[in-house]
Amino acid sequence: MDFNDSPDDAAYRARARGWLTANAGDYRNPPATSYPRDEFVRRSRAWQQAKHAAGYTGITWPKSMGGQGLSPMHAIVFGQEQSRYHVPTSLFEIGLGMCIPTVFTHGSPEIIARYVAPALAGDEVWCQLFSEPAAGSDLAGIRTRAVRDGDDWVIDGQKVWTTNAHLSDYGIIVTRTDPSAPKHKGLTMFIVDMYAPGVEARPLKQMSGGSDFNEVFFTGVRVADSHRLGAVGDGWKVALTTLMNERLAVGGKPTHAPGYATLMKLAAGIDRDDGPALAARDVRQRIAASYIADEGIKLTQMRALSALAKGEVPGPEQSISKVVVARTMQELGAFAMDLTEAAGFVTETADPELTKLQGTYMAAAGLRIAGGTDEILRNIIAERVLGLPGDLRPDKDTPFNQVVAA
Ligand SMILES: Cc1cc2nc3c(=O)[nH]c(=O)nc-3n(C[C@H](O)[C@H](O)[C@H](O)COP(=O)(O)OP(=O)(O)OC[C@H]3O[C@@H](n4cnc5c(N)ncnc54)[C@H](O)[C@@H]3O)c2cc1C
Repeated sequence: MDFNDSPDDAAYRARARGWLTANAGDYRNPPATSYPRDEFVRRSRAWQQAKHAAGYTGITWPKSMGGQGLSPMHAIVFGQEQSRYHVPTSLFEIGLGMCIPTVFTHGSPEIIARYVAPALAGDEVWCQLFSEPAAGSDLAGIRTRAVRDGDDWVIDGQKVWTTNAHLSDYGIIVTRTDPSAPKHKGLTMFIVDMYAPGVEARPLKQMSGGSDFNEVFFTGVRVADSHRLGAVGDGWKVALTTLMNERLAVGGKPTHAPGYATLMKLAAGIDRDDGPALAARDVRQRIAASYIADEGIKLTQMRALSALAKGEVPGPEQSISKVVVARTMQELGAFAMDLTEAAGFVTETADPELTKLQGTYMAAAGLRIAGGTDEILRNIIAERVLGLPGDLRPDKDTPFNQVVAA
């Protein structure tokens, strides 16, 4: 494992750093997500457009798709440099990380020509319409129906937890088109216009006070057959393209996430009755545990980076990172809240580090669920890394309309 940049990566890093220094400084304070919604969307678009004009979008995408045709290492280097700034990137992460790669892998040439460029340029926002009230981990159990009607399909049903649906122009949606086929076989994917008649996104309120995700209702929504992704009945295969990109995107520890160093700084500034918090045994134990977890995550991620640098695709062991990252972030956030006692729950504090720790604490529970829950990832590790017997899947081959609903 080589921890140093190759000469090519180092040159790219220097160029990216120079451009970011000149263009991202404006965003430094306060964190972009604390702006009101409209301002967040405006700034997110402006940042995406600036990167696009400078050639820092679609870094790994083929040039034929408007990308830069560079390696995953270049994308990682740019991501590392960008994470030094509070720039607003989250609005485009799902669209460009998951939806559009699915569109350009499975869409027709006309669909690719229409949708890929505006997404990359930051002109159109996308969401991922997969999960439903009764289908999350068991995604193939979705019930939203699409029925053929002439050149169109008519969609009825409900999705839930759809991040940014209320801010999106388009979404990719998994539907059931053949209820008599086994659950993985009767699915078909489409592109849906989020402004089409019959689409209603209702934002859900989170404990942080924000509303990042939605329930989305579809009532008689018409989608042209030209907006189908992949063959009729091949929706599971198409969805796997999205999920593979999702696991890669959420597998690593976000480079801006707080670690043991933030905890140490916080503890150094807190006085307890018996002296500084940093001198207390329990605090030192927790900081040491956080350091050990950080180092383990860093080394596991370096393993994935080494694979990417050699042109390999990181395998199912990537799931290990996500399980450990999400749990450690939750533990670290909880400990920081304990340390700061009542002050930990005063929101909108002037201390940006404390605000970050509060954000970590509140977001970490979601991170343990999004992109595969802890239990599902442990199943993957058990089956595909350790070679243990598979999970029970009793309804796998049963026609979906004969599966008994829970
Ligand atoms: C922050 C966030 C953003 C999200 N954004 C989106 C989005 O943009 N689009 C979208 O489509 N979805 C999104 N989701 C939804 C997410 O994909 C689902 O929440 C996730 O797949 C889990 O599904 P579920 O909530 O239905 O829980 P369930 O699948 O019902 O799971 C409930 C519990 O049972 C456990 N469980 C389930 N099956 C097994 C098993 N076989 N073995 C052991 N334990 C099991 C789970 O681990 C969990 O603890 C988001 C979720 C979060 C938290």
